[in-house]
Amino acid sequence: MKKFFERMKSLLGDEFNDFLKFYNSEKFFRGLRVNTLKCSADKLQKLLDFELLKTPFCNEGFYIPEEIISIGNSPLHHAGAFYIQEPSATSAVEMLNVEPGDKVLDLCAAPGGKSTQIASKLNSKGLLWSNEVVKSRAKILLSNIERMGVKNAVVSNCHPDLLCGKLSGYFDKILVDAPCSGEGMFRKNSQAQNEWSIEHIKSCATRQIQILNSAKKALRGGGVIVYSTCTFSKEENEGVITEFLKENPEFSIEDSGVSFGRPSLQYARRIFPMDGGEGHFAVRLRKNTEFLPSPEFKNNISKIPDNVYKFYDDVFLNRPFGNRLEIIGENIYALPEEIPNITGTGVLRKGVLLGKIKKNRIEPHHHAFMSAKPEQCRNYVDFDVNSEEINHFLHGNEIKTDTSLKGYTAVCVNKITTGFGKCSNGVLKNKYPKGLRTLK
Ligand code: SAM
Repeated sequence: MKKFFERMKSLLGDEFNDFLKFYNSEKFFRGLRVNTLKCSADKLQKLLDFELLKTPFCNEGFYIPEEIISIGNSPLHHAGAFYIQEPSATSAVEMLNVEPGDKVLDLCAAPGGKSTQIASKLNSKGLLWSNEVVKSRAKILLSNIERMGVKNAVVSNCHPDLLCGKLSGYFDKILVDAPCSGEGMFRKNSQAQNEWSIEHIKSCATRQIQILNSAKKALRGGGVIVYSTCTFSKEENEGVITEFLKENPEFSIEDSGVSFGRPSLQYARRIFPMDGGEGHFAVRLRKNTEFLPSPEFKNNISKIPDNVYKFYDDVFLNRPFGNRLEIIGENIYALPEEIPNITGTGVLRKGVLLGKIKKNRIEPHHHAFMSAKPEQCRNYVDFDVNSEEINHFLHGNEIKTDTSLKGYTAVCVNKITTGFGKCSNGVLKNKYPKGLRTLK
């Protein structure tokens, strides 16, 4: 690690001692980001028993105070009201400047902090394609997409080069949050420290350029890529970008209009602990070629049996995920308005998984309830965040309900859906997925 500190000293000059003070302290920056698809910051503040202090990195980002040990078990976390995210990690999506209606690719997406931030900004309009190359991590990504109630995402497990080749020229905006040596995570993650070496940095930089060269294929003319890392090394940040721009002169660095952190390469931003977060680098690149609309993909949607629509209307009101249904095997999906129909890209989810066809019935899926507002469900029960009922539900237990409730019923915490059950005779049979239940 001696070498790491020497390099940080030459990077930071007079500020090195300030960096060391942070480095040697036991305190970390911890943060949460409000999921505006399901909750507002004002509402979350009323429901939490600590004060939310804004970070400089995004309007939805707040610091978790030191004395708060764990909020991952809060019913509000289960409900997807917020995502626990290191404060400076929210900076890259701010620089992507996502607008509702955009087609956005998040190429290195697991566990999903930045993807779910993009989804909030899309506000269910347009498309988010969230890809992760490591299968086990892609499953965690999917679980977070479900928890945060994202309706307009494709989640895939594919090699970046294969995916971007198949989706050539399709996306308006692409995020490359590249795998890196993780120097910004050293204070929290001793494994990243143990792996540190100059050779590792160089091999990360080689892989990062490869990923950027894949990403550029999927970008339309005039589109934008944001490249980010959570490391400080120049090789993986300025070095990668300088080499990429040399090989791809049609790209240039663009001002993203943010003021957090400090500048580098004129418009890139660097964040150190002295700036209020553990550490990040992000830069916005514009492809300066003629605007070309994305290629169209023909969706051959098969005919849907009437009983599937009947099931949809029996459980939800006014088809909150639209009318474009697709059945693949036992799964019924509600597709976003526009979706490239691509085979061979390891797609794990398209739109909302509405339900599963069993022998002689259809059972709704957790994803559908997580993506619905209570008033969009035919039945719902609502409990306070501090109630015994919600605690019982998250443990997987049955709960007592009004005897008038029958059939599939959303379970909400302060009007935020957090799962479902099936009611009969005054009891709600628990359908909260076993892997998500609170253990003790
Ligand atoms: N964007 C994520 C978030 O905000 O939650 C964090 C992404 S993490 C920094 C980088 C991701 O890239 C990891 O999930 C890792 O598995 C993935 N990865 C590893 N090797 C890769 C490769 N060769 N190409 C693309 N992604 C890779």
